[in-house]
Amino acid sequence: MQNLLDFDRPALTEWFRACGEKPFRAQQVLKWIHQQGCDDFDAMSNLGKSLREALKSVACIRGPGVAADQRSTDGSRKWLFELADGNRVECVYIPEPDRATLCVSSQVGCALNCSFCSTAQQGFNRNLVTSEIIGQLWMANRLLAAEGEQAVSNVVFMGMGEPLLNLDNVLPAVHLMQDDFAYALSKRRVTLSTAGVVPGLERLAAETDISLALSLHAPDNALRDELVPLNRKYRIAEVLQACKDYVGEGRRRVTIEYVMLDGVNDSDRQARALAGVLKHVPSKVNLIPFNPFPNTRYRRSSAQRIDRFRDILHRAGIVTITRKTRGDDIDAACGQLAGDFQDRTRRRQRISIEVSGGAA
Ligand code: SAH
Repeated sequence: MQNLLDFDRPALTEWFRACGEKPFRAQQVLKWIHQQGCDDFDAMSNLGKSLREALKSVACIRGPGVAADQRSTDGSRKWLFELADGNRVECVYIPEPDRATLCVSSQVGCALNCSFCSTAQQGFNRNLVTSEIIGQLWMANRLLAAEGEQAVSNVVFMGMGEPLLNLDNVLPAVHLMQDDFAYALSKRRVTLSTAGVVPGLERLAAETDISLALSLHAPDNALRDELVPLNRKYRIAEVLQACKDYVGEGRRRVTIEYVMLDGVNDSDRQARALAGVLKHVPSKVNLIPFNPFPNTRYRRSSAQRIDRFRDILHRAGIVTITRKTRGDDIDAACGQLAGDFQDRTRRRQRISIEVSGGAA
């Protein structure tokens, strides 16, 4: 059975063509699937009966299962989605008065081993396929619609995994998010967050124009090597240059994510150094108060320290906001996503990923 959630519009068009059907069928079917949340070919009333029967015999529309559904007191919500092979990934919904953001995962686990992230502690299992990535959005909107809740208006690739190490599957999902026959989200409303995979940034630039966030977290290479081991492969200057190339001259800004770790990266000196590093990068900074998880060696910087850090950046002319922590009562905040899977990364393999920056 071919799961139609695996196809973006070009792929679905080609699939219909190969089946001897008219290409415009792809547009009709995409609308049913992604705009109506439909998973039943019989309900697709503008398709003839024989086509519906034919589709039923070779294709399906199948999203992930819901293994858990938790609501925070602040209105955010976390789903634990179960995949066909039993792996589970987390996905967070964050409603606000003027928007509703869905934070999606791109891999089962993560191989990058950032020292302050809970996902890292579990190791890496596998890439998500396109249907499992877009399936998070598809499923979320179906569940929200059934409850009369606000549909997703923004998507951020800030869940589990490194999206630039899974572009083959992430890009078709991005295309669907932006496609007028599917979710029709503008480039401002889809944001990919990366630890800084330089070849991935180059490919992303060639294939899409969605918004970009970089997890920087340190103003110098020595500290970043410790926090984000991928930095041993792609140094700060090279990563920032790739981000600059991505956003283009004077066009848009890259969001710099900076997790505030008490006594590690939050001093006045480091704030000034960060301002220096970002001087020629069109950027805005998001300070993220560290969200703790079991067995972590880090603590969150105090509110005063974060304010002071922000003020130094402000005075240097850098737009800086402190990200409001949402959903921490249900472990849904940044860096707390866990899922449920077996770590398949052997220690040696994990080290080689750190050093080579390659996907498993
Ligand atoms: N791999 C991608 C996307 C996933 S992480 C990336 O590195 O950007 C999404 C964001 O949450 C990143 O900025 C990450 O650094 C941040 N984060 C991870 N652990 C965190 C924690 N414990 N507290 C606060 N933010 C964290």
